[in-house]
Amino acid sequence: MKRILVTNDDGVYSEGIRLLARELARFAEVVVVSPDREQSATGHSLTLTRPLRMQKLEEGWYAVDGTPTDCVNLAVLWLLRETPPDLIVSGINFGLNVGDDVTYSGTVSATFEGSLLGVPSIAFSQEIAEGFSFARSSVLAASFVESLLREPELPTDLILNVNFPANGAHGVRLTRLGKRVYRQVVTENVDPRGRKYYWISGTPEWQEDPGTDHEAVQTGWVSVTPLHLDLTDYRGLETYAAIAARFHALAAEGGGGAQ
Ligand code: MN
Repeated sequence: MKRILVTNDDGVYSEGIRLLARELARFAEVVVVSPDREQSATGHSLTLTRPLRMQKLEEGWYAVDGTPTDCVNLAVLWLLRETPPDLIVSGINFGLNVGDDVTYSGTVSATFEGSLLGVPSIAFSQEIAEGFSFARSSVLAASFVESLLREPELPTDLILNVNFPANGAHGVRLTRLGKRVYRQVVTENVDPRGRKYYWISGTPEWQEDPGTDHEAVQTGWVSVTPLHLDLTDYRGLETYAAIAARFHALAAEGGGGAQ
């Protein structure tokens, strides 16, 4: 039987992870290691400045007072070190994780960490709008995972980011990340003790772009985006050559050691 590590960023008590784990347990050994509270938008954050606590809630269920990335580390490098997972499944997140937003997402970042630790990983997120259903998307997510595990061998750096539209789907589309034109705003206000505080908010708007994850979900398709952690701007290796040459000259003049 295949072993699946399940995590998320909405916390171990969220509906999305409960239903997902239940569906996965129909065909795999499931271990849930997940934050003890919501950790949405904590990105790929790793806790290094304080100890972490892991609480066993019931057989196969663990709560950690840290981020999703902490959970993946505690699970892969400690809890399951003798019996490593075949796959990491993260989600189902309450809300989409598409386009530029994936870098904020703790749910998606858990798959980044999985990939770094050599475990193929897949993230699931659910659009929240009238008619959405974790019950429906968790059944579909589990069938995707079951099919994925039938592959003879998965790349150890596999990262798939899956987003479910709110109202069922026409089918699945392979997509690239969309581009957000964020009207992000910072609001200043005053607390009851007379001190200023700030709140980051705003409504995301998206470039209408065919082939993107956002467009797929908006038009009623399940979006599957393959991701990787190589953030190199390959075009920049050419377009920034002149800037790099100037840096080189400055280093040579300034005693930076370049010859
Ligand atoms: Mn979340």
